[in-house]
Amino acid sequence: AGELGTSTERSYVMIKPDGTSRQIVGDIISRFERRGYMLVAMKTVVPSQELAKEHYIDLAKKPFYGGLVKYITNGTPVVAMVWQGKDVIRQGRRLVGATNPLEANPGSIRGDFCVSVGRNIIHASDSHESATKEIGLWFHEKELATEYRPIAWDMI
Ligand code: ADP
Ligand code: MG
Repeated sequence: AGELGTSTERSYVMIKPDGTSRQIVGDIISRFERRGYMLVAMKTVVPSQELAKEHYIDLAKKPFYGGLVKYITNGTPVVAMVWQGKDVIRQGRRLVGATNPLEANPGSIRGDFCVSVGRNIIHASDSHESATKEIGLWFHEKELATEYRPIAWDMI
């Protein structure tokens, strides 16, 4: 959508198992694309226990940690993505909406698609620090596309 951004800021965004089960992957991707962000990496992954635990390691002491890891590792694939563009970390969180979908604004992904904090469809990095950690955890550097070039798609 529109001009290709030049910012190299990146966020790790993940459609969780309930999002893939509900077949709203395309809708979620559309929301990031139409806002103007570039998809620089994407793959489906069936997360291992080890990967899910490491992804959420900061929440290890929370009472819901066990259930959260179980939810992410239920065997359904997640869609792991890296989005790039201006202010994508902060704006990605706004597109996603509040952690508790009951507090999420209508128009946000969680505010439009879910009602339960334990099944809130999507993850997005909450800081530069976590984005760097999470992109490194889920992707190899060589999996990240580094350049988008405009193409003259109507000339051939
Ligand atoms: P966010 O995903 O918005 O960054 P957190 O990092 O606080 O939220 O929590 C990570 C995930 O843990 C949430 O997206 C949600 O799936 C789950 N979670 C958070 N709080 C609760 C809770 N009170 N009960 C159950 N699951 C929770
Ligand atoms: Mg978080």
